[in-house]
Amino acid sequence: MSPRVYVETQGCQMNDHDADRLRDLLEADGYLSTTRPEEADLLVLNTCAVREKAAEKVFSLLGVWRAFKEAHPGTLIAVGGCVASQEGEDLLARAPFVDVVFGPQTLARLPELLAERRRAGRPAVDVSFPGLEKFALAPPPPSGPSAYVTVMEGCSRYCSFCIVPYTRGAAASRTLSAVLTEVRRLVAAGVREVTLLGQNVDAWRDAGEGFDFADLLYALAEVPGLGRVRFTTSHPADLTDGVIRAFAELPVLAPHLHLPVQSGSDRILGLMKRGYTAAEYRARVEALRRARPGIALGTDFIVGYPGETEEDFAESLALVETVGFDHAFSFAYSPRPGTPAAGADPVPEAVARARLARLQERLEAAARRAREALVGREETVLLERPARRGRGEVAGRTGGHHWVNLAAPPGALGGFARVRITAALTNTLRGRYLAPVAESPAAIALPT
Ligand code: SF4
Repeated sequence: MSPRVYVETQGCQMNDHDADRLRDLLEADGYLSTTRPEEADLLVLNTCAVREKAAEKVFSLLGVWRAFKEAHPGTLIAVGGCVASQEGEDLLARAPFVDVVFGPQTLARLPELLAERRRAGRPAVDVSFPGLEKFALAPPPPSGPSAYVTVMEGCSRYCSFCIVPYTRGAAASRTLSAVLTEVRRLVAAGVREVTLLGQNVDAWRDAGEGFDFADLLYALAEVPGLGRVRFTTSHPADLTDGVIRAFAELPVLAPHLHLPVQSGSDRILGLMKRGYTAAEYRARVEALRRARPGIALGTDFIVGYPGETEEDFAESLALVETVGFDHAFSFAYSPRPGTPAAGADPVPEAVARARLARLQERLEAAARRAREALVGREETVLLERPARRGRGEVAGRTGGHHWVNLAAPPGALGGFARVRITAALTNTLRGRYLAPVAESPAAIALPT
């Protein structure tokens, strides 16, 4: 009988995508995937270091897995992702029952590391940064009409609160031709929308050919059959005029951008080493809205960053009102060991939590207004999957990244449709199916 593998992943879309690669790689190595960790012969944890108390969460889950291993001797445990990269060999000191430690850039080596573990009879560790080696693996097959394509890995910005440059290494970009080849294959397999992934996609470069991220977007616009392109995450200081122009000129670009601001205070942005002011951020947003009227904006905020005063926080609240975000993620600051901000004097936890609650109230009100403004409008929706609550309905996303549930005719799933938005609910929209949309980007009308 084939050995079984259970893969658990934490954190961002890049980690989800890496987890799909891991499953594929291990299935090609003879494993069968299981959803039941207690019956697995190999347990793989793909960790994330971005959230609070990341290492504690990892060690607590490993404690559960240790019991599975004790019940079934011979079970192997592999830990990858950003916490593994950060901890390296130290992870084994706290969890000596772990068999393999690998990093985000060495995931393609997991079968070799498992073989080394079996051969040598001791744990195998490789958290090096070999660049883009993992992209030599065939990408995971698409599971619907929308797919992720990683275009770069790592980050060279070193924002003072962020662990990514230390766990994923410096920014390294795939070539334009590698990205185009992967996208063409996905389209041939039925994909209609791709989301380009990277920690800072605006820093994408094909140095050999002298292409920047705007060039990549223009090249993707030429791929026949590709109906929509999204990308995440953008950095306000690296978002070029060329990318903004692409929003004006390329109907294939979804009218949506996630542009993390983190704070509305110039003093805090300076401490964070973000490389822009609040006024510069607003100017980028205005330029985007001139290029693509109606573009939906998402953002991230950190509240209670060390040194944040009530005045600084008030500037974050003011920014929410003046910009008006459609979507937002917001967190109370918590230190990541090894980052420059980690040693700074913290804002008292109760103060940070109270500020977070106030900010989230404003963000939720702004998001509600954005959803309500869509009621009565006609939107182009990619019908991506059956709706979670059944009733034979389907769920899809508007160009502005709003989820819509609706009844659709047989065979509509997987394609674009014109949909009338009929109601705004707590987190989603309801819609009425109007007509299919020809799957050519030129057919997706730009807002006027
Ligand atoms: S740009 Fe993003 S990924 Fe890079 S260091 Fe800053 S927060 Fe981290």
